[in-house]
Amino acid sequence: MKSAPEPVAAVVGAGPAGMAAALQLKRMGIRALLFERDAPGGLLRNAALVENYLGFPRGVDGPALVRHFCDQLRAHRVPVRREEVLRAGFRNDRFHLETDRGAHAVPFLVVASGTRPLPFDGCAVPGAAQGRCHHEVWPLRRLRGRHIVIVGGGDAAFDHALALAPLNRVTLLMRGAGPRGLLLLWERAGNEEAITLSPRTRLTAVRARGRGLELTCAREGRSFGLKADRLLFAVGREPALDFLAASVARRLPELKAAGRLHLIGDAVNGRFRQTAIAVGDGLRAAMAVASAVEGRA
Ligand SMILES: Cc1cc2nc3c(=O)[nH]c(=O)nc-3n(C[C@H](O)[C@H](O)[C@H](O)COP(=O)(O)OP(=O)(O)OC[C@H]3O[C@@H](n4cnc5c(N)ncnc54)[C@H](O)[C@@H]3O)c2cc1C
Repeated sequence: MKSAPEPVAAVVGAGPAGMAAALQLKRMGIRALLFERDAPGGLLRNAALVENYLGFPRGVDGPALVRHFCDQLRAHRVPVRREEVLRAGFRNDRFHLETDRGAHAVPFLVVASGTRPLPFDGCAVPGAAQGRCHHEVWPLRRLRGRHIVIVGGGDAAFDHALALAPLNRVTLLMRGAGPRGLLLLWERAGNEEAITLSPRTRLTAVRARGRGLELTCAREGRSFGLKADRLLFAVGREPALDFLAASVARRLPELKAAGRLHLIGDAVNGRFRQTAIAVGDGLRAAMAVASAVEGRA
């Protein structure tokens, strides 16, 4: 029996960047493995309304855009492997990936692992409350008639509030006096009756009570209590690159310069974390892998 050809590349993460990379690799005839520890779509699954991705004149909600991306992968027969990459090292001229389901060796690696939430450092969240505290909005999208408190004052916090407000009551606790991000999101939130903006407010304590939460907040020297069903943190994110072993981290410049390693999307884009940029990064990385493969042949 003929065995399948060896994979040439591995793509870690099936968010917009990784999906675009895997699709383009497939189109260029390069056998690649696309790993995703969760559901495909990445952070985009949280977006309430994406208005800056071309092709959708009236905007598109994040989950719907993710469905389009997944349909496109299926149409081109690009499978997503539901595996978490636990470690990626480099030895004997190959990247060696250990996942929660097996091991793989490839000459090219595309890292599209995005970001992970920064821990909330304002107060401790007791174990009993943790099941009601979240860092992403998509698990809350089915909630109806609840009071959801969001901590954060950036674009993500406002986007979350707008996603939840049609069917729930939302309170936004912001450390600053005004918006840190897009003014239009602040204006839209201000026009939503179900959203209460609480500027100059810090969350100082969280307690689990019955099926909900009791929160203590501080505003301008005064302390007050708030009851909530759920708490959603949107206090920033950091690159999710901890699975890269020292054997890769040490040789990063060299592996990148040789076209063997590509770090793309939100994982490396700092404040330029946007879907179209991630997708463009994915295409570029795939084309660079194809050139490097050609160069080696
Ligand atoms: C609330 C919100 C609203 C937004 N609105 C917009 C908008 O309007 N317009 C816009 O352009 N962008 C928007 N964005 C940003 C957009 O979602 C991101 O820029 C985009 O998703 C980045 O894609 P990515 O593939 O680089 O990373 P991600 O989307 O973060 O994908 C990374 C993927 O890698 C997976 N992964 C990580 N580590 C591993 C591992 N070790 N093994 C296997 N899999 C792994 C993760 O599970 C994840 O699926 C928004 C984001 C949020 C949170």
